[in-house]
Amino acid sequence: MNRRRRRAEASGARERSPSPNALTDSLRAIHAEAGGALNVYLVSEADALALILDALEGSRVAAALLRAASDLVAKTRTPTGERPLCLACPAELTNMRGVRVGLAAPSRADPSMAIAFALCPACGTAGNMDDRVLAGLRCVWPGAQRLVVTHPEGGRA
Ligand SMILES: [Zn+2]
Repeated sequence: MNRRRRRAEASGARERSPSPNALTDSLRAIHAEAGGALNVYLVSEADALALILDALEGSRVAAALLRAASDLVAKTRTPTGERPLCLACPAELTNMRGVRVGLAAPSRADPSMAIAFALCPACGTAGNMDDRVLAGLRCVWPGAQRLVVTHPEGGRA
């Protein structure tokens, strides 16, 4: 299996385990839907209860993070060489202990698809974790940059 695919997989309502061509199509669809802006979500084991509650209250992002975590758990049980990889380093994930689950979703109210990824315990606790995530996402979007939203409500000064 392609190492890039093992690092970041598209997830969404359309298809859960796309073929390589379908993955490319999914990435194009996410890119088009994003219009150049993605939100990145990262959660750890400590966030599980809050995620479940948010998903029960209708949060699609929370539901997608739970689905991504569930998919990762299943994939960590596959043979060596097929297990998911850390987004930021060559580590193959053999279990979910200390793993952070991430999503990069189009920055809109109701994204239809997202890219799921994971960070190994070392990368997920590193002081430069954000930089590691950005570097990993640049494998998919070479020009990706971090934006700091100073006025999330919008409006004019
Ligand atoms: Zn790592």
